[in-house]
Amino acid sequence: MNKPWLAHYPSQIPHTIDYPNKTLQQFLQEAASQFPNKIAIHFLGKELTFQEVYKQALKLANYLVKLGLKKGDRVSIMLPNCPQAVISYYGVLFAGGVVVQTNPLYTERELEYQLKDSGAEILITLDLLYPKAVKMKAITNLKHLIITSIKDYLPFIKKLFYSLVQKKQQQVIVKVKEQEDQHLFSSVMAFSEAKEMEVDIDPVEDIALLQYTGGTTGFPKAAMLTHRNLIANTVMGAYWMYQCEKGNESILGVLPFFHVYGMTAVMNLSIMQGYKMILLPKFDPETTLKTIQKLKPTLFPGAPTIYIALLNHPKLKNYDLSSIKACISGSAPLPVEVQEKFETVTGGKLIEGYGLTEASPVTHANFLWDGERVKGSIGVPWPDTEAKIISLETGEEAKINEIGELVVRGPQIMKGYWNQPIETEAVLRDGWLYTGDLGYMDERGYFFIVDRKKDMIIASGYNIYPREVEEVLYEHPKVQEAAVIGIPDVYRGETVKAFIVLKQGEECTKEELDHFVRSRLAAYKVPRIYEFRKELPKTAVGKILRRVLIEGEKK
Ligand code: AMP
Repeated sequence: MNKPWLAHYPSQIPHTIDYPNKTLQQFLQEAASQFPNKIAIHFLGKELTFQEVYKQALKLANYLVKLGLKKGDRVSIMLPNCPQAVISYYGVLFAGGVVVQTNPLYTERELEYQLKDSGAEILITLDLLYPKAVKMKAITNLKHLIITSIKDYLPFIKKLFYSLVQKKQQQVIVKVKEQEDQHLFSSVMAFSEAKEMEVDIDPVEDIALLQYTGGTTGFPKAAMLTHRNLIANTVMGAYWMYQCEKGNESILGVLPFFHVYGMTAVMNLSIMQGYKMILLPKFDPETTLKTIQKLKPTLFPGAPTIYIALLNHPKLKNYDLSSIKACISGSAPLPVEVQEKFETVTGGKLIEGYGLTEASPVTHANFLWDGERVKGSIGVPWPDTEAKIISLETGEEAKINEIGELVVRGPQIMKGYWNQPIETEAVLRDGWLYTGDLGYMDERGYFFIVDRKKDMIIASGYNIYPREVEEVLYEHPKVQEAAVIGIPDVYRGETVKAFIVLKQGEECTKEELDHFVRSRLAAYKVPRIYEFRKELPKTAVGKILRRVLIEGEKK
């Protein structure tokens, strides 16, 4: 296959790589022996060394095996970015389990779906989320809950402060009692053994992770990512960032680890390369600016909305962000203006990359240092990654500069969707992943994304699938038709708008619909704008023409 992009690679990046035949957890074991006393995690003032993270992951692994976990069993981790998220991830892997990343913002309905679909019997989560988690025991296969608290990993003074804040905010924290099917993370750390584990894992074949995504159809399903998929993508990333020094960088972790992007670009990369992770449990512009000034991270993977929020902060000028050396922006188009301004403010590099859950996630990026960067482009395919554009008309490879569907192939591409052979067949053909994104390749081999074949909305970095929101709206007794689209939003990138046709003779307010949807879906999926219409544009066979609504909004 013709790969014009390889001509642009700087000499430091190989065209092809010999991937280590290892498991993800072996990288933690190696980091613990190579950098035992180096700081692996910084979390709100609390620090853990690589050796400590390794030992604690082993303690959890031994405990999970005692609970009956066997190779290939799924364990759901529903945590924000905190040390427990890292320890749990590697703990599950050491025990031979499969990690199921679960968004802490999920409602009960979403959580129930994911637990049933993955068949997870163990869930690791926060005390704050206990009321939601405990209900799952009666309605899913869930047998054990392991409960932790943010407080478990805070420095002493902050622990006190945390309790005060919780009281002030009147947060109801259930005091979880230890019982046969309920376990405290703190007790596991206090009493479990940190014995080395031996589980026979084939890195090429065995799944490490079930990562849920709507994919191209919007129907929630799990991408099966093997150890090799995730390691390959992390190794490619390490080569791409060749000016970064093993054991000598620190990386800001604001991207959530329950999404594959934060998991690979922050967690897996840090463990593989011996970088310090500076974790923030959620993104807040002011805290992020303060953290950069104080803790001086050198790397900062993010999404456009994150960089935009920082650049628009009224006190931006008061902060010194000069420690930042390299940032990769993914998940949505990065405006050129944002890229340039951010580079001026920090003095570091900010490049646009591209990827998707099914590709662990990165397939393309611009060059950070040497090599030409092309504005508005997602860059070129990573080592060992093939990419082409398929014409929507002919199904054959498109011509240079012709728009079609981007398809990609490489060692980072998933094994398939969990228990979904039909959905898998629809997107994986001869090892090629059909991304559902529309774009083109120029004569030099740089790629550009112009639109999504799928209708996914990305608001504040979260993916929202119109179909899922519409399904909830359709459940409302007064709603006859609903169509959901994304409309441009300066702050969130996109925001959700719903078009509603009410049943004849019915009356309904926006507030009524908002209340209905809010109780059924995570807050970020709830439409911010409603428009009531008498009818919606449709095709001859009655399919609502979402594209016409989108065009109407543009006008
Ligand atoms: P996810 O599976 O959650 O990682 O979402 C992947 C989707 O995000 C892709 O299929 C694209 O639609 C979108 N995406 C990721 N990176 C970019 C980018 N640089 N430009 C435009 N869209 C992007």
